Amino acid sequence: MTEVAFALCNSYDEALTASAIASVLRPFGGMKAFFRAGERVLIKPNLLGAWAPEKRVTTDPVIIAAVIGLVQKAGGIPFVADSPAIGSFKRISEKTGVGKVCRELGVELLELSAPRPIKPPGGSRFRRLEIASQVLDAGCVINLPKLKTHGQMLMTLGVKNLFGTVVGQRKAEWHHMAGVDRDTFASLLLDIYLTVKPSITIIDGVWAMEGHGPSNGSPKRLNLIGAAMDAVALDVSICRMLGVPLDAFPIYREARRRRIGMTDISRIRVVSDGPTDMACKGFVVPRLDSMGILPGGFDWFTKRFLVSRPVQERSSCRECGMCREICPVSAIENRRGRLLFDYDRCIRCYCCQEICAHNAIHFKSGLIVKALNYLKR
Ligand code: SF4
Ligand code: SF4
Repeated sequence: MTEVAFALCNSYDEALTASAIASVLRPFGGMKAFFRAGERVLIKPNLLGAWAPEKRVTTDPVIIAAVIGLVQKAGGIPFVADSPAIGSFKRISEKTGVGKVCRELGVELLELSAPRPIKPPGGSRFRRLEIASQVLDAGCVINLPKLKTHGQMLMTLGVKNLFGTVVGQRKAEWHHMAGVDRDTFASLLLDIYLTVKPSITIIDGVWAMEGHGPSNGSPKRLNLIGAAMDAVALDVSICRMLGVPLDAFPIYREARRRRIGMTDISRIRVVSDGPTDMACKGFVVPRLDSMGILPGGFDWFTKRFLVSRPVQERSSCRECGMCREICPVSAIENRRGRLLFDYDRCIRCYCCQEICAHNAIHFKSGLIVKALNYLKR
């Protein structure tokens, strides 16, 4: 049996949050079980970009502060670190509230850098990985994801959060290497998870995000904090709770295929006093289509007509250029304020939509999603 713990937490009140986090750690031996006194402990939140906490894009600063407090109380030396794909780390730190938390608690806040090549675990589709050296050198990593939907990967939970340990814009290069296949990208995420080996994953689902996540969805209050030493089991349990179909979740498919973590829901035991089955009705997830529906020679047809494609919402666009900068295949051109997408080149990585702070890129449904929507009516 693999264990996961959940606790209800109906606000970001500091005392309530700290108590909920302590309660989900108790079944695993409490915070002190993960490191020795005096050891440096890396806390990895989701700092996707410069969004205020109320947007529910990033891990809430109250959660980060509570975890810092628990690490300090257990005798560890916490530091907070992440590597947003793009944008000024200082600006992101201030906007998300993590900068203030770290200053007030006297804790180091670090932008991950210095990628180090490393051999991936067995069963990988890649010959090497590149992870920030600070992560590889950390004795203990505490993974602090935000519970959100994700346009490309359906959900971004514990496993996906560790993609932030790939330094800066190298993330885009890895998107490019993984190509258009979601399962290949999921496999890469699992390689990163196995390499980073977080001691514990604690997920912030007090306020989550549904719909067009991970940055332009709708905030959704779930009042939930979860934890597990096996992030795959935690991700699977959360999908199950929210009514997210597991077979549509690429990380589940790949983890099950490669036998990574616990994917058998009947062998996952909820060990806390929190909800065992919230059965949250109506949690809205994106509908995913597939690039692999036709043989390779028909890619041009699939990309132009069958799968969803990015389009600019011109009235919302501020021409900041972030989407062009992050696109791993240079598929976006700006012609006097009008963004032109090269759909043959585009690998549907959703990075442009994810990074746009103005909700100015939407994915227009292709024929596959239109057909699925029609059949569901
Ligand atoms: S679509 Fe968004 S990211 Fe791209 S230029 Fe416009 S505002 Fe910037
Ligand atoms: S246009 Fe957008 S979805 Fe397509 S490859 Fe570039 S960043 Fe990814």
